[in-house]
Amino acid sequence: MNVYDSARMADVLAPLGYGPTDRPDEADMVILNTCHIREKAAEKVFSELGRLRRIKDARAAQGLPMVLAVAGCVAQAEGEEVLRRAPFVDIVLGPQTYHRLPEMVAQAARAGGAVLDTEFPTEPKFDFLPEARAEGTNAFLAIQEGCDRFCTFCVVPYTRGAEYSRPAAAVLAEAASLAAQGVREITVIGQNVNAWHGEPGWDLGSLLTALARIDGIERLRYTTSHPRDMSDSLIAAHRDLPELMPFLHLPIQSGSNRILAAMNRGHDRDQYRRLTDRLRAARPDLALSSDFIVGFPGETDADFADTLALVADIGFVQTYSFKYSPRPGTPAAAMGDQIPEAVKEARLAELQALLQRQTEAFNQSCVGREMSVLLDRPGRYEDQLLGRSPYMQPVHVRAPGQRIGDVVRLRIAAVHPNSLEAVLA
Ligand code: SAH
Ligand code: SF4
Repeated sequence: MNVYDSARMADVLAPLGYGPTDRPDEADMVILNTCHIREKAAEKVFSELGRLRRIKDARAAQGLPMVLAVAGCVAQAEGEEVLRRAPFVDIVLGPQTYHRLPEMVAQAARAGGAVLDTEFPTEPKFDFLPEARAEGTNAFLAIQEGCDRFCTFCVVPYTRGAEYSRPAAAVLAEAASLAAQGVREITVIGQNVNAWHGEPGWDLGSLLTALARIDGIERLRYTTSHPRDMSDSLIAAHRDLPELMPFLHLPIQSGSNRILAAMNRGHDRDQYRRLTDRLRAARPDLALSSDFIVGFPGETDADFADTLALVADIGFVQTYSFKYSPRPGTPAAAMGDQIPEAVKEARLAELQALLQRQTEAFNQSCVGREMSVLLDRPGRYEDQLLGRSPYMQPVHVRAPGQRIGDVVRLRIAAVHPNSLEAVLA
């Protein structure tokens, strides 16, 4: 979502004459787009700001301006703190107000002091953003934002705010524009994307069906979903839409029913298992990915063993796993029985080793299989092109005559540490 937001901020600033650069020392403006989901991400902001301050000072010594803005969820949650610890910051803005960036830039220039805008405005920012500019063959499309689920460990409902779904017409128009700009694969995104309900009588299943009909759109994905919001129509979309890739990221967080309840996830592991059975019945080649938190308050060795058992039972092929990080203001941060860091470390290492083995086994099982791959980048060698498999694996192939943007049938020939090698099928 931050990648999407950063691109939209660039779109908003383009009419003012700003264009992207990789070099902060050449930048008239730097926006740090920040994440508050775990403490480590949030702390990085302040070390990065220290680095940017030196660049800003060096530019000032040459008479060059540098507007420094902090955006995203750290700004939302700790805006005042950012200005206190980093008074050289010019603009602090939350994830819901970046459509107002041009005003803030003007205001900062006029006032000379810092501008802080971390409101939750009544107008949705999407109504004020310019047309999204596409780069390449793949694009994110935000259809939903915020969350009403309040898992006890999570800051999202506080930083991104209440659940908001964009209207179907706006989503379909943005998708058609992306397709016209050469996009072939769209990943619709949201903090709880399958809670999308942009229109009475619609849900994510019907939205994906409508997106699949857009000329030029050959592949669809969606992320991130909550197990409680998998509707019948969405499961049917996995059966009926060849455009919908057979790879689903469906976070469960823990395999222990006791911990799932303490997390306020609203489902237990058997419900999750039944859900994945239904999804696999709808789409037999479906592969599943997930998120896990280890060391949630009160997690015992037996709870953690339940997580390991679930990972093997469901057969996840790819995952993200994290040590529980207490976030200020969330219920879990105030729970007793916080788990020592060393225990979290050990559990994370054990879980990641298991997950790594499963990912490798899955990659090996792909050898000899035919898959469709969207070619999205040139490779290092002549006639070599890179792309992604339906399962998001990076694939490289010698494919003379093929072009970026083509979806080709490939046979997987070998597994490399970070990619699959393929030949034209
Ligand atoms: N909406 C998604 C996840 C959003 S946050 C869902 O419901 O699953 C992305 C991931 O960050 C989460 O899945 C979780 O695994 C992790 N995460 C969130 N809060 C965390 C915390 N306090 N400590 C550690 N990991 C956390
Ligand atoms: Fe956070 Fe996801 Fe739970 Fe919402 S559903 S509170 S985003 S973990």
